[in-house]
Amino acid sequence: MFHHVKELQFNARVSKPDPRFARLLLEQFGGGNGELKAAMQYFVQAFSAKTPYPDKYDLLMDIATEEFSHLEVVGSTIQMLLTGVNGELKDAADQEEIMQLLDGPAAREGFIHEAMVNPQFAVLSGGGPMLTDSNGVPWTAAYVDAVGDLTVDLRSNIAAESRAKIVYEYLMKFTDDPYVKQTLGFLMTREVAHYQMFEAALNTIKPNFPPGVLQSDPRYSNRYYNMSSGAEFRGPWNEGASTQMGEAWQYTEDPLSEVSHTNGLLDLEPEGTERTLESMKQADEELSKKRSKEVKSSTPKEEIQWSLYKKNSQNGE
Ligand code: MN
Ligand code: MN
Repeated sequence: MFHHVKELQFNARVSKPDPRFARLLLEQFGGGNGELKAAMQYFVQAFSAKTPYPDKYDLLMDIATEEFSHLEVVGSTIQMLLTGVNGELKDAADQEEIMQLLDGPAAREGFIHEAMVNPQFAVLSGGGPMLTDSNGVPWTAAYVDAVGDLTVDLRSNIAAESRAKIVYEYLMKFTDDPYVKQTLGFLMTREVAHYQMFEAALNTIKPNFPPGVLQSDPRYSNRYYNMSSGAEFRGPWNEGASTQMGEAWQYTEDPLSEVSHTNGLLDLEPEGTERTLESMKQADEELSKKRSKEVKSSTPKEEIQWSLYKKNSQNGE
């Protein structure tokens, strides 16, 4: 269950209203790399992790809940940056009157300009945050990556944290408010912390590469295809040992000749690896059994209950 505390996780403040920066900050409220996306991603991933991997469930729910707290910090900051907008709009019930209330033609022009560049605040939300990105595109569940395999989901989370971090970094360029900068610095830093938590959690799963259960074909796992001519580079991505499996990269200088000489790669032999098609099959079977057992052995056979409340209580029987 969630239990709401009215104080923010971080003491967010603003020096003065700034509706234009409020609009940019919407990106982290309802945008593709924003806090709601992060919260929902980890929250959704947590369900399938709970029974077989209670340690990862704990981690995912702790971080999901923190992301909701960040969403609250971002929404509050947007609201503070919009201070006064709602009041102006309420005054606008009579259009002529608001124009008179505003102090001179420059102020009027300014208000109209603000409404033009920020219609979501001035016309739609009435001066509060909306679940859209900075261009008013509605938040969508399509931002959420959850596939029910922790070796994949935790990697998605590392990537998500990287993107959230860089968006905060970019956003900081567009405000000179020291209080807002302080809040953004905190939010950015927490994404750095989360990155490392997800990475550490991934490293406790052995093996975790390749992602998922099935092994990769030894004929094609360590082959680099030179698919464009000219300005070619060699680096650890195509020479030496591969990063995870430690196999020797095979550089195919002329892919056209290779595919035509190998019956479209069907007759290619594994090179630069000890693995064979036979050992791949065996590894598939062993890991399938292990992973399936992990999940099945933790699945209750009867009376399925989510929480730790005492079972067979008098009223519950
Ligand atoms: Mn966050
Ligand atoms: Mn995060």
